[in-house]
Amino acid sequence: MMRVASLILAIIFVVALFGCTMEEKTALTGGAIGTAAGAIIGHQSGETATGALIGGTVGLLGGYLYGKHKTKQTETGDVVKFVECPKCGTNLQLPATATAGNKIRCGNCKTEFILQ
Ligand SMILES: [Zn+2]
Repeated sequence: MMRVASLILAIIFVVALFGCTMEEKTALTGGAIGTAAGAIIGHQSGETATGALIGGTVGLLGGYLYGKHKTKQTETGDVVKFVECPKCGTNLQLPATATAGNKIRCGNCKTEFILQ
């Protein structure tokens, strides 16, 4: 019984290492945690493999949703950059998507400048 859970865990860890997107990684991490938790819970009730499967499925889904949430946060500019206005020196908050060459308008002195 423990072999099945170990095998599932091993597969998840291997795939997690080579997973490329944030969603996949968090989903698989969640899956691994869920599988481990499920195996422990299942083991106590005498159903290790069943517990691992249920835990893994729940963890995978939870991890995927969490990963999606995290990815969305990054895309919507939750992570920000700061740039100093060349005219008045105000620290301006820019979305993470702002790149060099973007036109920035200072909220304080209304000066427009190109992001370096
Ligand atoms: Zn300014």
